[in-house]
Amino acid sequence: MKTKTHRKDKIQLITLGCSKNLVDSETLMHQLDYNQYLVEHNPTGKHHSEIIIINTCGFIDRAKEESIETILTYAKLKKKGAVQKLYVTGCLSQRYKDNLEEEIPEVDAFFGTMEMPALLNRLDADYRHELVGERMLSTPSHYAYFKISEGCNRTCSFCAIPLMRGKHISVPKEELIARARNLARNGVKELMLIGQELTYYGLDLYKKRELSSLLEELTKVEGIEWIRLHYAYPSKFPLEVLDVIRDQAKICKYLDIPLQHISDPILKSMKRQITRTESEELIGHIRDRIPGVTLRTTMLVGFPGETEENFKELCDFVQKTRFDRLGTFQYSHEEDTSAYLLHDDVPAAVKESRASELMSIQENISLEINQTKIGKTFKTLIDRKENGQYIGRTEADSPEVDNEVIISGEHHLRIGDFYQIQITDVSHFDLMGHPVHPSA
Ligand code: SF4
Repeated sequence: MKTKTHRKDKIQLITLGCSKNLVDSETLMHQLDYNQYLVEHNPTGKHHSEIIIINTCGFIDRAKEESIETILTYAKLKKKGAVQKLYVTGCLSQRYKDNLEEEIPEVDAFFGTMEMPALLNRLDADYRHELVGERMLSTPSHYAYFKISEGCNRTCSFCAIPLMRGKHISVPKEELIARARNLARNGVKELMLIGQELTYYGLDLYKKRELSSLLEELTKVEGIEWIRLHYAYPSKFPLEVLDVIRDQAKICKYLDIPLQHISDPILKSMKRQITRTESEELIGHIRDRIPGVTLRTTMLVGFPGETEENFKELCDFVQKTRFDRLGTFQYSHEEDTSAYLLHDDVPAAVKESRASELMSIQENISLEINQTKIGKTFKTLIDRKENGQYIGRTEADSPEVDNEVIISGEHHLRIGDFYQIQITDVSHFDLMGHPVHPSA
């Protein structure tokens, strides 16, 4: 077999968008590394590589703008001769390849979300099937995002993801277990399960929902101490998953369940296949079956036809339900989605003010919830040391999006280890504390 020597060639890979895109970049980096390329991910310093790959996002307007601005920045560098080759991959490229080829001719080639072999081929690199599922982690080595499926079979009217990522494809269970073992062998202690829609897992492959049994299998992987669930679609939620979360010590009592809205006419128009009453019943089940669960959700404001009354209903619901975490998106009018046929009638300024009103309600809730933690002790995973302080997370916090625990740097803690931290003070979105004794 031929061996290619690219060791002197450096590639800078820039990843935009969500954790699912990040996993794709990590897979690509591993393939490039195997082909003897030196890869630098998300360079922060001065540009100094001849080959650039941009892994783009095409989810909503703002993400698209960021992707296009990044491509244009590197296209300019290419014009000046500072970059030799410029390649673009990911969701934006999948969705708008033809337009982009016409508009930004400086890019040498655009690739879709499923075209990693073609991208590698363009770089004179082999796509190694035996490496599928292996990654070069870009996160701290003690945690990893863990993609259990690709694509989505839902038809939410606002969502362009199925256009870019295709239909739902579950990764077979045995393959996921092998991947988890491999990650654990390399020091990963926490897996963040992701996919466009976790609860659909298994329906395509096994003709039944298999998230519960997958979770049970994952808890048996030696070395994995925390398993966290993101992106669980609320309609027809498989309730047995709640019992597994409650009963398995390794599964974080944490659930990220994007509701998007609560007002029935909006839910219907969004084609979310769930009503307000059903959403409330589901939240009741979750809280009953998993005492102390941390609930994260996402809301979408400014959907076509969202009246002041609909928005007020949403605010009242958020106020009353007291989610532990809440993220907000503003509606983005995306062609080829079914909502595109509706009139995008909520002005941008109103979308903006609704998003910030919702977040300010949540800010107060978050502070109140955090205040109840003062004096309590939590098992905390230390992620990094920054500006002389340790930064960690409890079971209730996912990286990037949730609270952090800040601990004075005068203690001697190891990154990637667990400690019992007593909380001494809090702010809206962070906790301050000190170690009481090392965790078992
Ligand atoms: S479930 Fe999520 S990814 Fe799938 S169509 Fe709906 S919003 Fe999009």
